[in-house]
Amino acid sequence: MTPDEFRAAGHQLIDWIAEYRSGLAEGPVLARTEPGAVAASFPSTPPVEPVELAKLIDDLERIVVPGLTQVQHPMHYGWFPSNASLSSVLGDITSSGLGGLGISWESCPALTEVEEVVCDWMRQLTGLSDQWSGTIHDTASTACLVALLAARERATEHSQIGGGMPSVAQPPVVYTTEQAHSSVRKAALLAGYGGDNLRSVAVDGTDHGMDAQHLARQMADDAGAGRRPAAVVATVGSTGTTAIDPLLEIVAVAERHGAWVHVDAAMAGTAMLVPECRPLWEGVEGADSLCWNPHKWMGTILDTSLFYVRDVEHLVRVMSTNPSYLRSSTDGAVTQYRDWGLPLGRRFRALKLWFQLELDGVEAIRRRIRRDLDNARWLADQVERAADWELVAPVPLQTVCVRHHPAAGMSGEELDRHNLAWVGAINRSGDAYLTSSILDGRWMVRVSIGVEGTERRHVEQLWARMRAEAIAAS
Ligand SMILES: *Cc1c(COP(=O)(O)O)cnc(C)c1O
Repeated sequence: MTPDEFRAAGHQLIDWIAEYRSGLAEGPVLARTEPGAVAASFPSTPPVEPVELAKLIDDLERIVVPGLTQVQHPMHYGWFPSNASLSSVLGDITSSGLGGLGISWESCPALTEVEEVVCDWMRQLTGLSDQWSGTIHDTASTACLVALLAARERATEHSQIGGGMPSVAQPPVVYTTEQAHSSVRKAALLAGYGGDNLRSVAVDGTDHGMDAQHLARQMADDAGAGRRPAAVVATVGSTGTTAIDPLLEIVAVAERHGAWVHVDAAMAGTAMLVPECRPLWEGVEGADSLCWNPHKWMGTILDTSLFYVRDVEHLVRVMSTNPSYLRSSTDGAVTQYRDWGLPLGRRFRALKLWFQLELDGVEAIRRRIRRDLDNARWLADQVERAADWELVAPVPLQTVCVRHHPAAGMSGEELDRHNLAWVGAINRSGDAYLTSSILDGRWMVRVSIGVEGTERRHVEQLWARMRAEAIAAS
């Protein structure tokens, strides 16, 4: 494809995307596709002759769009807000269009340096001190793995360059809670700690935050038994209920054992753009690493996960291999992001953040976050005032966790069935989408507010629908 052909096709495609975005609220939220239906619409053998873009656009409309669950739909309240701000989409297109290669500073100096700049801007915008240095990973899952590798090597005096984990006399131990994201367990297993050395710290019965005293007891027990408390993964804004682990206390406990503290604020990091939310992560300055996803609530299109560390030198010592063909005269004077994580080649992801910050402006993003926080508080108020509804967790952010009680004296199983029935009816209708989730052994329903297009009237509409379906299912 020549640049001129690209120009013509590109205009058509941008028009199509803009059209699609303006109309997506008219379709169902949850994809109505049967498993295998998308794949079955494709020829079983690859194309031989080139076709016009128009044919591809036809296929997009006919095959792909019906296979999309519309997470940009204003009535999407499932999982978490996965916004894809169009300003950041332009940055993403630019990243691809420039066709840079990020394998070293020299292979694309601008790629490295724009990433340094936007990571530092984001640090300032979230009120973090200048002791933090940042990079952009693909996801919070990767960031957690990198953090646990760094923690493992700190706790084992760089065992990887010698005999590795089998040579370690005191097995390193990781601490987190049952509310932590599944990626934490995955990272601990992949980093070689072993499932037996992953502790589940108790949580507070009301707010589901980590019980720091239990953490202290577990760490002391492990140390007494010849194991090495190596890392705590603390969550600020858990996936289920946006529970907040008390960082100040956790950091103090971890310090006694020299354990690494990684803060997983994948979802809640966005809230720190507004100063009034920052008390939620009080103590964060004492952590060793920190991750959050602009690709969730803030709205930078996937994959944009910010990862900050305090001790860059240690991180680089763990993650760097430095083969001869990648060495250059500028080493030492510049940042080599390949030594901050797993992949060698990286995309120009910083453009997505840069474009969004410049084209939308930070104040507009902050207004949207405050709007969402207000909407969540409004819904929580309605739920609290309704005698037959229960708010099953505090609402520190934008997620409201509820359960409907149609009659007194129902068994736990009956309540489970009832709540799954009304939420299932809403989801199948396509008019809205909510996720059900288990909390303390019983089903509840999460209303995760924060899609760019979700206004108060949408939340009011949802609440009316929830009440109607809950009564219908009674
Ligand atoms: C979404 C989420 C993750 C996983 O994020 P990915 O970027 O998809 O890996 C981890 N932790 C928390 C708290 C999350 O909300």
